[in-house]
Amino acid sequence: MSFRLAIGGISHETNTFALPTALGDFRVQAGAELVAANDGVRSYLGGMLDAARRHGASVVPLVQASATPSGTIAASAFATLLGRLTDALRAALPVDAVALDLHGAGVAEGCDDIETATLRAVREVVGARVPVVTTLDLHGNLAPEMLAPATACFGVHLYPHTDAYDRGVEAVDCIAAVLAGRLRPVMALETLPLITPTSTSDLDPVRAINAFCRELEQRPGILDVAFFHGFSHTDIPQCGASVLAVADGDPELARAAAREAAAFVWARRAEFDRHDPDGPEAVRQAVAAARELGGPIVVNDTSDNPGAGAPGDGTHFLRAILAARPARTAFGFIWDPETAAQAHAAGAGASIAVRLGGRTYPIHGEPIEATAHVKSLTDGRFVQQSPMGRGRQVDLGPMARLQIEGVDVLVASVRSQVLDPEVFLLHGIDVTRCDIVALKSSNHFRAGFNPVARRIMTADTPGLSSCNLRTYPYRRLRRPVAPLDAEARYPGA
Ligand SMILES: [Zn+2]
Repeated sequence: MSFRLAIGGISHETNTFALPTALGDFRVQAGAELVAANDGVRSYLGGMLDAARRHGASVVPLVQASATPSGTIAASAFATLLGRLTDALRAALPVDAVALDLHGAGVAEGCDDIETATLRAVREVVGARVPVVTTLDLHGNLAPEMLAPATACFGVHLYPHTDAYDRGVEAVDCIAAVLAGRLRPVMALETLPLITPTSTSDLDPVRAINAFCRELEQRPGILDVAFFHGFSHTDIPQCGASVLAVADGDPELARAAAREAAAFVWARRAEFDRHDPDGPEAVRQAVAAARELGGPIVVNDTSDNPGAGAPGDGTHFLRAILAARPARTAFGFIWDPETAAQAHAAGAGASIAVRLGGRTYPIHGEPIEATAHVKSLTDGRFVQQSPMGRGRQVDLGPMARLQIEGVDVLVASVRSQVLDPEVFLLHGIDVTRCDIVALKSSNHFRAGFNPVARRIMTADTPGLSSCNLRTYPYRRLRRPVAPLDAEARYPGA
């Protein structure tokens, strides 16, 4: 059965403690460009495109807008993006279905939930009968209002989000089944008074929670049970963890599965607590681990993760490394376009005096003043190889490999987290020959570095994506909430 499928979306993970996000921060792809950027890529839209092809659907690419996680989106920016999406949809009518790529933790000025706003606007254009299915990031802070305008929502289960492609496929498979009259999705959302630090699904408690959700999915009639971690750097009332269940035709079945999974999460909430070492202690432990196990020991600077809205130019952890001067150590990378330009102007082989990083937020540390040897220069372009988003063209702008105190330090012109060893390879560094590899990411790097790391360790210094939730000046968050308030209770427990 052939059908006409519109695809598009607006995706942003908003860290309300960070500087505001403007229209120019968004990368907007439309029409053929949207298809070209995602075809063959292990992304939500890549999965949607492949599934649409398999079902013989004709795809109408609308608009997809996304920005590196950052602060609250300007009201006018969100209005403009939503207008472009709905204008494109209106121009594409009639369509048989809409598949959207949304995040779940997007906040604009005056709008705490851009996903519900987007779904409502899309629903208004297509009317009540056209299926509108969306993928979501498990870091979404979901609210019950989202369910009404959506036919079904499918969140990734894994962190690193290596199943984004699979959820895109699932969304379009769901649409095909609905259009064929074989499926009537119903959803239930169970929210928890719980915020969590960044928690990979490689390890417990998320590993155990996911196993429990997969068991629930074995029940006849259950399509999906997704644990949403929430995004704890979003200071809005609805910030927090939840479980979303999708069933076929039976709301009670969905509600029971969501409640059981939520009760399981609540029972294991204490396991989310983390106690990561600060910069100097993390370096000391990494040196000891490299001596014992050999390299590479991979240490992630979790509190300055650009993938969670932190700037990526924080200096606390890099300063600790340069003070210890550990052997065979590479740091990749710090965001500093000015220093990258300075290195490019000086040329490879030059010696330059740098003031590195520390330009955006006082909490992330002062600039590092040092003499650096310019080892190599690149254009910052490579193709992502991590199982998460494999095939995506990456562009980090002009980059430099500097050597400071015997440590290799990569400098980029574009804010981004590190997802795989490719950026090191681009600069002539084979990470398997390093004792210590340090990088800015919270968990997504694991998908690319698990195959090579002898051990993975986390450093937590002051910053906008710290795992220490007690350091955030929440004002609007609904209280009481665990783990901040001992009196927090989940009524379904
Ligand atoms: Zn996420």
